[in-house]
Amino acid sequence: MKILVTGGAGFIGSAVIRYILSDTKHSVVNLDKLTYAGNLESIPVSLHDERYVFEQVDICDVAELDRTLLTHEPDIIMHLAAESHVDRSIDGPGEFIQTNLVGTYTLLEAARKYWNCLDRNKKEAFRFHHISTDEVYGDLPHPDDVTDGQYLPLFTERTSYAPSSPYSASKAGSDHLVRAWLRTYGFPTIVTNCSNNYGPYHFPEKLIPHIILNALAGKPLPVYGDGSQIRDWLYVEDHARALIKVAIEGQIGETYNIGGHNEKRNIEVVETVCSLLEELVPEKPKGVSAYTDLITFVKDRPGHDVRYAIDATKIANELEWTPEETFESGMKKTVRWYLNNQEWWQRVLSGDYQMERVGDGVEK
Ligand code: NAD
Repeated sequence: MKILVTGGAGFIGSAVIRYILSDTKHSVVNLDKLTYAGNLESIPVSLHDERYVFEQVDICDVAELDRTLLTHEPDIIMHLAAESHVDRSIDGPGEFIQTNLVGTYTLLEAARKYWNCLDRNKKEAFRFHHISTDEVYGDLPHPDDVTDGQYLPLFTERTSYAPSSPYSASKAGSDHLVRAWLRTYGFPTIVTNCSNNYGPYHFPEKLIPHIILNALAGKPLPVYGDGSQIRDWLYVEDHARALIKVAIEGQIGETYNIGGHNEKRNIEVVETVCSLLEELVPEKPKGVSAYTDLITFVKDRPGHDVRYAIDATKIANELEWTPEETFESGMKKTVRWYLNNQEWWQRVLSGDYQMERVGDGVEK
């Protein structure tokens, strides 16, 4: 099988590609524009073989999408390319509308044109898997705001959409486009909505790597508001495994929620990083007696959702997927990874990763 992954140089896309290359026999086409969030160094050269091809393409570019699809003739498209950082969407929503909405529309149309030209067998087997977030559902009641014993709901596949940020609104819109292409044109789509991911190769602007790297440098550890917001955390390699299962075995037209059953307050996440660093790096930066002393509460993000939590029963029952990592084991692996892979994140912090040489030696 040949799988085309959009956004394959990003955090989750690269985990999907590493999983395909190391644990399956499938081939993969990595289609990525290489924005600031795209880093080809997240796919180690040791994994590159004849099953792996990279195409530097923008999902808003119709002609380049047509060329890539006709050149590689994928059996499955997994669509992960997106602008993904909530804070950036608040500061400048335009890119999010362009990539997440216009880009998804452009890709859907190119993929539908390609699918229409396939021979009968290939056409029947083809599927377009759209990867999305639980943030499209808005937020849920927080345990601090409900009385004892009151039921705390979870997001299910039937929860209504109520996005709060420009990022989640753009992802919600893209989910609707994908479902409309199924209903209107019979184009074979599947959607997954997942909770917050963490793990290796996470861009340092995101909470967990930001906290690890700031703590190692003896810098403040910023926590929004009082840190009570709850997120459900999933180790990225568990997500990658779930995505391949859905892409290959999922039912056309279905939505699957993916989550880690790990509801944690942001402050607990930060404290977990601090206690792992106390254990693994007891020699602290000059002037720091405990990593937790670096925790600094900062003004809350506007429109900040108070709680996300996923009910992942459907994917467990129908596709027999459950996460392998607990929050504790996944966090330990993550902190260790950042300690053992300083070159990767130092090249991100310095900007050198954007000078990575591509294919035949052309610098991007
Ligand atoms: P990321 O920001 O790390 O990576 C996005 C990738 O898309 C980058 O490689 C970037 O270069 C590429 N890209 C951006 N614009 C593009 C364009 N116009 N054309 C082609 N490529 C482009 O994101 P991520 O965290 O890996 O998330 C991947 C997907 O999963 C997104 O759709 C996101 O909404 C979804 N998701 C993320 C999380 C999470 O916790 N990170 C959780 C649930 C769902």
